Amino acid sequence: MTEVSVKVLVVEDDADIRRFIRLSLESEGYEVFEVDTVRRALIEAGTRRPDAIVLDLGLPDGDGVDLIRELRSWSQVPIVVLSARSREDDKIEALDAGADDYLVKPFGSGELLARMRSQFRRHLFQNPVGDSEIRFGEVSVNFTTRTVAKAGQPLHLTPIEYKLLTHLVRQPDRVVTHQQLLKAVWGPGHEGDMHYVRVHMANLRKKIEDDPSMPTYLTTESGIGYRFRQRA
Ligand code: CA
Repeated sequence: MTEVSVKVLVVEDDADIRRFIRLSLESEGYEVFEVDTVRRALIEAGTRRPDAIVLDLGLPDGDGVDLIRELRSWSQVPIVVLSARSREDDKIEALDAGADDYLVKPFGSGELLARMRSQFRRHLFQNPVGDSEIRFGEVSVNFTTRTVAKAGQPLHLTPIEYKLLTHLVRQPDRVVTHQQLLKAVWGPGHEGDMHYVRVHMANLRKKIEDDPSMPTYLTTESGIGYRFRQRA
């Protein structure tokens, strides 16, 4: 039996960071391809068909966010964005454009590898959209009967809470921005209503989480949005 290699395309113009990422990924057995421009990234993404992309946003010949939009017109490949902490808006823009996760520079090898593993788990080894039920901790969500239970007891969620919960749990380990949640749950025209998300999320956590003040499943991405962690 031949071993199937998992290919990762690294798009980064800083040679030192690129090398660090390559060595980290190779240590875990990934096959790595490196490019340093948007132009080369598009060519490699089309020809190599990588299983994941690690993408720096500031590239010499263009913006990583434009590259994400281009990729998303024909590919659902997991994209993990690299960003500097000072560029919070860029990070949100990249996630709204379709990136799956982000790493803030400087980051460690362990952090990078953990993020990659969670992306592969999501994309290769499970298909929550196709499942009729998802379980985490004592909670089970049944998409067919539209019911949620905790420790065998039915939970009474409002329609908004149910929509919020299901939108997140169908995308485990993915960062979902405030704007994406507003659009998915409330529909267009609510871009400014971020407080809706906060209020309903607080109520939802009281029903779902063991300790709502220390959420382990519906976690906060500070200033950005939320992430569902199936494995607390
Ligand atoms: Ca750069």
